[in-house]
Amino acid sequence: MGSGSSNQSRRVAVLVVMRTSTVRNRCHGSWSSPCKWAPIRLRKRSPGGPFLRSVRYGRPITESSSPHAVVAFHLEAAGERLKLAEATLDLLRSSEREVQVQLPVERTDGSTSVYTGYRVQHNAARGPFKGGIRFHPDVDLDVVQGLASLMTYKCALVNIPFGGAKGAVRCPAGELDARERGRLARVLTRRLADVIGPERDIPAPDIGTDETTMAHMMDEWSHIVGPTPAVVTGKPLVLGGTYGRRDAVGRGLAQLFSYAADELGVDVEGARIAIQGFGKVGAAAAVAFTRLGCKVVAVSDADTAVLAPGGAFDLIALEEAVARQEPAEALPGDRIARDELLTVPCDVLIPAALGGAIHPGNVADVDCQVILEGANAPVTLSAEQELLERGVRIVPDLLANAGGVIVSYFEWVQNLQHLHWDAGEVDERLGRTMRRAWDELHAAVEHQDGGPRTLREAAYDLGVQRVTQAMALRRAV
Ligand code: NAD
Repeated sequence: MGSGSSNQSRRVAVLVVMRTSTVRNRCHGSWSSPCKWAPIRLRKRSPGGPFLRSVRYGRPITESSSPHAVVAFHLEAAGERLKLAEATLDLLRSSEREVQVQLPVERTDGSTSVYTGYRVQHNAARGPFKGGIRFHPDVDLDVVQGLASLMTYKCALVNIPFGGAKGAVRCPAGELDARERGRLARVLTRRLADVIGPERDIPAPDIGTDETTMAHMMDEWSHIVGPTPAVVTGKPLVLGGTYGRRDAVGRGLAQLFSYAADELGVDVEGARIAIQGFGKVGAAAAVAFTRLGCKVVAVSDADTAVLAPGGAFDLIALEEAVARQEPAEALPGDRIARDELLTVPCDVLIPAALGGAIHPGNVADVDCQVILEGANAPVTLSAEQELLERGVRIVPDLLANAGGVIVSYFEWVQNLQHLHWDAGEVDERLGRTMRRAWDELHAAVEHQDGGPRTLREAAYDLGVQRVTQAMALRRAV
């Protein structure tokens, strides 16, 4: 693990090189940082707007739960609307670099398991590559390609100076103990050391990874190159992490909802929220929406779903479960089948687990007014079409879950400048960034030519346009 083995361990197998080249009205404490959040201001505006109309896609849908297929569909559609040149589209259809690595990990029983790791760097026209690292048994190159390209447009939409990347290790993450996961993070860092770095590509946590994973990656990097906390984000606070990173996606979702609720046609106070996934995103969202005055009526995780007793979980019970990083099972309430969560009657459904959660097999039973996409690509194309025709408003992943990468950006900036912002400052900046992005997105939906656009179509148009402008200015096309 030391620097002596660095040359050998930095060897990277390049698989494909396409171009190498609150209202904080009930705050009873906190779990990852002091409770100093700035109040969320609600904006009044009459509900409605073009994105409330039903929309049929102008191009045929090939149904798939693959995030790559979903993002590719929206890219092609944006390309037609924006009249992009074929060469520009070809660059966006592929990735700047795709790396596949072999990851031998010594198991606690003395055996060795070999896993496959991926890092896909989609586009860096707007800044260094940025994207999470996922440890999960079901990932493959196709999933990582899709999520990397989604990151490119997400960073552009919320206007932070990053390109898009994603990484993953195909492994039985739930079966690995803490030491095995640590060894896996370290061997991954050694294998990716030639392609990541604070000015090149900055990983962060995703499904199956967390602050501890990032601590291992940062430490391993420091043995290879030298101490640089900015090489990863989502680190523990004492290692150069930032306040508010762990709950950034949940906080961002709540801030966005508080700001957009009028236009989405839902009252914030008392809004019934159902959340699929009780991990970093879902659990933080449960706390943030409850602090906002909403009622979290049900949550689920990979093992179970729980209906809140009396119609809403108690904030203290939620905060305690989150502080101890407990599963949904720890919450009081009636147990229902895991996937019934998606059909619980509610005002706002937040899928915050895996992609493709809402699909043709369950969409008819989804009973909500608004979907806030906490997960990436949680709604398949034909399920989305059906929901839009029923008048369900979908706030797309590109904006809805961008709180994570926005606060990662803040962490990176603090690391590079040796600064330390307090929780209130991080939260205030997050709120400002989400508000600006929502205003720009809403304006883009309202001021379009040639027929209605959904929020997702407008989000892709804005994101893709900003990326292609940067590519053109850099003479990449
Ligand atoms: P996590 O590993 O912390 O949590 C995932 C949760 O989903 C767990 O509670 C797990 O039990 C649950 N789950 C898995 N399968 C399920 C199923 N079939 N039904 C119900 N629950 C299920 O991961 P996370 O970081 O919270 O990420 C969740 C989603 O949010 C992912 O799609 C991820 O890409 C996206 N996202 C995460 C971040 C981030 O910063 N962590 C940022 C943006 C988007």
